[in-house]
Amino acid sequence: MSYPVVYLKKDKEKPILRRHHWIFSGAVKKFPESFSNGDICQVRSHYNKVLGHAYFNDKTTISGRMINFSEENPLASIEKNILNAISLRKKLFDAKITNAYRLINGEGDLIPGLLIDRYNDKLVIQISTLGIEKLKDMIIDVLVENLGEEIDLIFEKSTMSSRNHEGLDKIEKVVWAKHKGARVQTEIFENEVKFIVDVKNGHKTGFYLDQRNMRAYIASLIRGKKLLNCFSYTGGFSVYAALSGAKEVTSVDISEEVINGAVKNFEANGLDPENHNFVALDVFEFLEDQKELDYDIVILDPPAFAKKKSDYGAACSGYRRLNTETLKRMKSGSILLTCSCSYHVDTDSFLKQVKKAAADSGKTLRQIQSHRQAEDHVLNPFHPELDYLKGFAFWVE
Ligand code: SAH
Repeated sequence: MSYPVVYLKKDKEKPILRRHHWIFSGAVKKFPESFSNGDICQVRSHYNKVLGHAYFNDKTTISGRMINFSEENPLASIEKNILNAISLRKKLFDAKITNAYRLINGEGDLIPGLLIDRYNDKLVIQISTLGIEKLKDMIIDVLVENLGEEIDLIFEKSTMSSRNHEGLDKIEKVVWAKHKGARVQTEIFENEVKFIVDVKNGHKTGFYLDQRNMRAYIASLIRGKKLLNCFSYTGGFSVYAALSGAKEVTSVDISEEVINGAVKNFEANGLDPENHNFVALDVFEFLEDQKELDYDIVILDPPAFAKKKSDYGAACSGYRRLNTETLKRMKSGSILLTCSCSYHVDTDSFLKQVKKAAADSGKTLRQIQSHRQAEDHVLNPFHPELDYLKGFAFWVE
């Protein structure tokens, strides 16, 4: 099949030649006569050189997103990239170690607009663009053909606000089920730690897969010690810590529902929740009530304070305040793991706020570890926006 042709302006092919996936509206010289938004077109330079294929939407600032950089059939490229992503995850994670990971990470897996997480026998798919929306049936067919033996449900959770610009409404529904009544809940495991995940009602796609390595790091330090896990969600860090011999774990989250989920996760791992503390409260209020934090390790893993670029200033103040209020109360000789998942607050800016917080609270910090999102969140060097999570462990004096 031949695709209509989009021509780029002179010199605008340079990022594409470097394999950057995005075509900004200002780079397009001419759209084809017959073309509707979301369709795949062939992309050619000003000098008529074929650069590959992209799907286009002339209503958005990023008008085109490349889905291959060759003359190959673009649908075949998508299928190939899905299969490559599946086989990479199988190489990264032995099935005995975990059955939950990010399966497709947008440009990181060369498929802009598509995120897919796997939770045991469920897939959760998130679509952010009209181009991928139009390819949804084909993508589901490829997933079912290749993973159909292992999964019983594909749930779509396309709720990102950026869909507005693409002219798309939010979608939250089952898009494929092997049999009637397939459940939206499942149990996953990570290094022998079990978690109950609800792909419909949970936050994001159900679980914070990105913190995998930080959870294992905390587990390695916690034997015989006390942990305060702020912004705990369903107890990712907490369950790891309790199973690894923590003396006591306190989980704090503003949502009662997720705190109940944390209790269930303790039970699922044969841990007695009575031996630990579960607090449904705003972390700032919790801190206000404490004179001293009598813990060996404190985790701060708040939601993104900067959801968009213009939130930068307020987010920096938020990180400074949160870290100050925490450090002020921490004991000398304890450890702080402080995280930010705001892409719009870059690593240097985040560290600057933590340093200010140390000064504000009269504490000395020595960095002992740093982390980013786990390796299943494959990065693409030309798309830094995929690199959003940072976590630093400090020895506090
Ligand atoms: N650390 C978790 C993920 C945290 S996500 C994990 O590894 O699984 C952020 C969490 O912060 C959410 O569960 C949300 O309910 C909670 N939250 C948001 N604002 C809060 C606040 N002011 N105080 C306490 N919890 C808050």
